Amino acid sequence: MSYLRNIPAIDELLEMKQVQAQFDRYNREFLVATLRQATDEVRQALRLSGAGCSREDITVQIVTRFHTMLSGSSRGTLRKVINGTGVVLHTNLGRAPLGPRALQYVQEMASDYNNLEFHLESGERGSRYQHVEQLLVKLTGSEAGLVVNNNAAGVLLGLNTVAQDREVIVSRGQLIEIGGSFRIPDVMRQSGARLVEVGTTNRTYLSDYGQAINEKTALLFSAHTSNYKIVGFSAEVQVAELAALGKAHNIPVMQDLGSGTLSDLSAWGLGEEPTVQASVAAGADLVTFSGDKLLGGPQAGIVVGRANYIGDMKRNQLIRALRVDKMTIAALEGTLLEYWCGDPLQNIPVLRMLTMAPTKLAIRAESLRSALQEMLVDHAALSIRTIETEDMVGGGAYPTYKLPGHGVQITFADNRLHTVARQLRQMEPALVARLQDNALLVSVRTLGPGEDRQVVKLLTEACGQTTEQSPVARHEPCKD
Ligand SMILES: *Cc1c(COP(=O)(O)O)cnc(C)c1O
Repeated sequence: MSYLRNIPAIDELLEMKQVQAQFDRYNREFLVATLRQATDEVRQALRLSGAGCSREDITVQIVTRFHTMLSGSSRGTLRKVINGTGVVLHTNLGRAPLGPRALQYVQEMASDYNNLEFHLESGERGSRYQHVEQLLVKLTGSEAGLVVNNNAAGVLLGLNTVAQDREVIVSRGQLIEIGGSFRIPDVMRQSGARLVEVGTTNRTYLSDYGQAINEKTALLFSAHTSNYKIVGFSAEVQVAELAALGKAHNIPVMQDLGSGTLSDLSAWGLGEEPTVQASVAAGADLVTFSGDKLLGGPQAGIVVGRANYIGDMKRNQLIRALRVDKMTIAALEGTLLEYWCGDPLQNIPVLRMLTMAPTKLAIRAESLRSALQEMLVDHAALSIRTIETEDMVGGGAYPTYKLPGHGVQITFADNRLHTVARQLRQMEPALVARLQDNALLVSVRTLGPGEDRQVVKLLTEACGQTTEQSPVARHEPCKD
């Protein structure tokens, strides 16, 4: 075991130039701990090989391992992912990517102090709810607006504020579950409101609501069933009819829109999702929707509607637990400003991806294919071609609608499909592709600007390997 004497001391390693260079980025404790671990691992490896090595060899091994470990253990678990699935609002991949205006706002507001709860004019304490409200009012035509943590929180707060210990009438056809175990009946229970179901799964009429109204009724509730569709023999009451009924009985109407878009997307085949403005104009007293679905902003729940109800919601104690942070407010304000005075179809990534012309997608897929073909020309076990894809809106919206898209399909003659897919997920950035028809499929719709080149690099690396390689660096066995 003479080689053990050749293992340098931690203090010696710390003096090395390559290690000293790391003091700009990492603290001493972290570097010492990492060097220790690297040394232990090399010692272990030497023990297994059972022979001696020179001091130089051992030092090189330790420093190499040290550098690999540095990049591995100094990063968080959140990783950048390239979305090759063609699902635009992919809930597992962070839903809506933010646009440049939103990002710039977040950067400015989060890295310095700001007037989150401060009135610059009077110099007195202000409210964080003052910020986005005027933009929401202007964009939706509502009297007032409020932002909370997510749409589920908006629904909960609305129900609790307006209908605690009282009755809320809901159609049986709208007792939906959204992914992530958001169930309308459960949220209703947690809010303290009593659920009164009317109608049947497939048909509910205005008279069903009318007959259920009594002196305990606090609210008529309507949920936009964005994530499923009842076709055939079905009937649903429109929010305008519900609003008229509510008005006649002096009972407010709340609509959970889910996706809640500000843009009319019917020209792109996406007309089924009602706009928030239409809902407000139809007379809904409160409308709730998500910030990170079709709006294309940060995770948030947006509530717009009558000033008296929004005012009550702002005074509800629950709001303290549901409130949003400055980063959310900044990202949302930046996003809404894009709608107000910018070019949302171009600069809100979600809208840009949803409205991309199929001809452009086809050109992009073809250039991706030819770049890949060039890089992987020697690999006979692969076939690469462009294909038409069925992309999706995602986030629970338009579940049955397939956006016609384009992508690149890679088929493997050998059995490597799942190995390659796993490898792609572990690269940096990770590439998440679709597995379909026993092939790897990358849809170009959801690739960010400039990500095409990265995709070529990642795919070339993952597909180009003919054998699986162990991620652990191997060491030459020590010789006496
Ligand atoms: C997505 C959705 C929700 C939940 O919204 P979050 O912002 O994810 O909390 C609630 N209701 C409907 C109809 C939805 O589509």
